[in-house]
This record gives sequence, structure tokens and C-alpha cells, in this order.
Amino acid sequence: MHLLHTPEEFIAYRKSLSGTIGLVPTMGALHAGHLSLVNHARTDNTHVITTIFVNPTQFGQGEDFTAYPRTLDADLQQLSDAGVDAVFLPTPDNMYPQGYQTYITVEDITRGLEGAMRPTHFRGVTTIVAKLFNLAQPTIAYFGQKDAQQVCVIRRMVRDLHIPLNIAVIPTAREADGLAMSSRNVYLSAEQRAGAVCLSRGIMQASSLYDAGERNPSALLNAVLDEIQKESLASADYISLNHARTLAPIAVIPSADWGMGEMPTADEPLLLSLTVRFGKTRLLDNAILPHHLNTREGLTNVLGAG
Ligand code: AMP
Repeated sequence: MHLLHTPEEFIAYRKSLSGTIGLVPTMGALHAGHLSLVNHARTDNTHVITTIFVNPTQFGQGEDFTAYPRTLDADLQQLSDAGVDAVFLPTPDNMYPQGYQTYITVEDITRGLEGAMRPTHFRGVTTIVAKLFNLAQPTIAYFGQKDAQQVCVIRRMVRDLHIPLNIAVIPTAREADGLAMSSRNVYLSAEQRAGAVCLSRGIMQASSLYDAGERNPSALLNAVLDEIQKESLASADYISLNHARTLAPIAVIPSADWGMGEMPTADEPLLLSLTVRFGKTRLLDNAILPHHLNTREGLTNVLGAG
């Protein structure tokens, strides 16, 4: 497995390759969710490149950039075992050298949901991802459903800037009790970890209601809220229903100025998403309604395709 430390090494390595290239960008602290992306990339492509970079520009003031878990040796072992060809491991100085001043901003769809909570987050994400796309020139780039808005934003950027690649969206990998895997789950105390199952439970309740014919946005959102409120350590930042193709808002709890809209008249796919705080830790989860679309094919066709 090649270890590439600088953009110059990456460019030289990329020039040596022919065939298809799968790119899996990560911030490390790898778990089975990341490895699922890698496995899809391995199946589809001649070469698989993973990047590990805790990207400072996507963390806001007071967020966990310094504390973010870093487990490089274990990460590299897992990637080598999974058959990855090369790992790009730059430093912040490699990616943002002195004098750096270029950023990419995707406009409307970064304003709601995570963008409303983390105003500079997506600017950092699109900037680093565009840089990684330029270096890797992948055939297919792999992203997780768990960061659904991120996928929509990156897709918008790819279309708007004519970046020649495909995006695959891989379903959320979960722990046995349903908790979405996340590098940040290590921050949870044992008690918080036990309560964290409320996110996936809430989503499952709403998803079952939707599949049984419920189309009232408040009924769907309140089904999620009921599960969150059963957990004394949990506090919801938002629970939101959006059009899955465009992220146009339908309804949100608590009400927010980015959250008022209409249910579609036809049965267009919806994105149900939420973030919940356990102490300082924010957990995210989501599902597409109806349930049967939560596959690689369904997610890739629907999320951000508007
Ligand atoms: P991160 O390292 O958190 O930036 O995540 C790197 C990629 O892995 C992103 O595309 C995430 O959406 C994806 N990812 C994170 N957690 C999961 C999960 N539980 N299941 C599937 N993909 C995930």
C-alpha cells in the first residue's frame, strides 16, 4: 500500500495509474462504515485510493478539531487488509500552505440543516473535497448516507463545476442495536451510548408510519421526537423533513426559518434527518422515506439528484 504525504507525491502516483479509480475521502478513526465504502470501491475499480485528513477548515470555532480521534496505525492496518492501493495522509500545512486563499461555496442547500448549525462547515468540506477530486481524478467517489446533506452539497458542486466523475452513496453502517457508526461515538459515556439508540428507533418509527401511509409531516416528526424524549440524556437539535432530491424543506422541529415548505403532492422521496446532543457530543442520523430506497442504488439515485 502506497503512503502519499504531499500533493506532489499524489500527483506523481496518479499519473502512474491506468484503469478506473475509486476514491474514499475520510477523516480517519476508521470503523466498519468507512470500510463499507472501501469495499464498494474495491469491488468496482482497478485502483482504490483512501484519504485520511482531519480537515481544519470544516470545523467551526469551539468544535472538536483538536480532540477529534486520531488512530492512524489501526487505520492503515484496516485499509491494507481491505486491499486499498494508496492512502493520502497530508498535513494541514500541505493542504493549506501559507498564502492559501481559495474556497468553494455551494449556496442554497448549505443554508439549512447542518449548515444552519455549523455555518462554515460546508465551505470547508467542498473546498477539501474539490482539492481531493483534482488530485485523485477518480472515476467514482464514495460517500456515506450518514452525512446526507454533505452528499447533496458535493453533488451540486460536481454538477455546477462540471467535475467529471460519478458519486456512489453507501448506506449507513450501524451497530447491532441500530446506532449509526461514527468516529465520534467514542466520546459517549456508557450511559449516553445506551441512550443513543433513540435516534435510529425514532427513524424506524417514522419510517414504518410513512410506509403504512402516514403523510402528515407533524405526525412523522413527532414519532421521532417521542423516542428522543424517552431518553433523559438526549436533546434534539432538530428533526427535519426535506425533499430528498433538492433538500427543499417541508417541516422541522423546532420550527426554523429554513424549515417551512410543502409536502410533495406525488410520492416524491423524502429525507428524514436529525441531530441529537448527548452532552457535548452531537449525533446525526437519517433515512430516506420510503424505507426501500435506503440501498446504494436507491440512495445514489435519489439523494441530491435534483
Ligand atoms: P468521516 O471520516 O466522518 O469524514 O467520514 C468519511 C466518509 O465515511 C463520509 O462519506 C461519511 O459519510 C462516511 N461514513 C461515516 N460514517 C458512516 C457510516 N456509519 N456508514 C457509512 N458511511 C459512513
